[in-house]
Amino acid sequence: MNYKLTISWLYPDLMSTYGDRGNVICLLKRCQWRGIEAEIIPISLNLNNEKLGSSDLIFMGGAQDRQQSIAGEDFIVKKGPVLKNLIEKGVPGLFVCAAYQAIGNYYKPYTGDDIAGLGIFDLYTKHPGDQAKRLIGNAAAELNSKFKIPNTIVGFENHGGRTHLGKGVKPFARVIRGFGNNGEDGYEGAVYKNCIGSYFHGPILPKNPRLTDWLISRALVIKYRKNVELTSLSDEMEWQAHEFMLKRLGIKSLQ
Ligand code: GLN
Repeated sequence: MNYKLTISWLYPDLMSTYGDRGNVICLLKRCQWRGIEAEIIPISLNLNNEKLGSSDLIFMGGAQDRQQSIAGEDFIVKKGPVLKNLIEKGVPGLFVCAAYQAIGNYYKPYTGDDIAGLGIFDLYTKHPGDQAKRLIGNAAAELNSKFKIPNTIVGFENHGGRTHLGKGVKPFARVIRGFGNNGEDGYEGAVYKNCIGSYFHGPILPKNPRLTDWLISRALVIKYRKNVELTSLSDEMEWQAHEFMLKRLGIKSLQ
């Protein structure tokens, strides 16, 4: 059977500031390398809104406060209702940093008005003001057991906002090195159904092949209503990059 996945990339022109386009390329290639047809649909302020409803997988990346606020209202009004419906029916998504903040309740930036969020995740984010340092650097965390892939994830974070999870919201991972949601509670990201919010930018998918495959597998299960075995890929380079970062951070591999 020929499988096809439509991957919607939200606001590539506004919210792809910290190398997040690499995650879209990674999803595309890991489908193509397996003979799964994959199409990337860029969706932005006045672009392809009508195509959002046919997403099999969603990606939305990071942004500086200004671009985040430009996308803010559009995200809620134009994308919100369809996105909520997709996520509730289990369509997988990865929302990185500003995108993660945007699927929460609100983000209070360093200056200017609060940016309302979709409220899919019961969480809020606040920038603590000008004395606060940005949470920047390479980071590693241990995945929530929900993923059944006992694994570290490595990535790069760069955010001023501090995110606090509501009661009952499942964290995506436990921080081993770095800051994660707020640099205090030891958690990184959040998970709801097949939707992940994370502060890990850029390399979160290229350096964590099992996580990428988890998203692809979930998209296939939801679309074709059956488990589709993914052919294994060598992943030598991916794991080299993963292990290199673990070593640099002084962490023993959990593989
Ligand atoms: N502007 C937000 C913050 O500083 C998100 C940054 C990002 O997406 N990297 O917290």
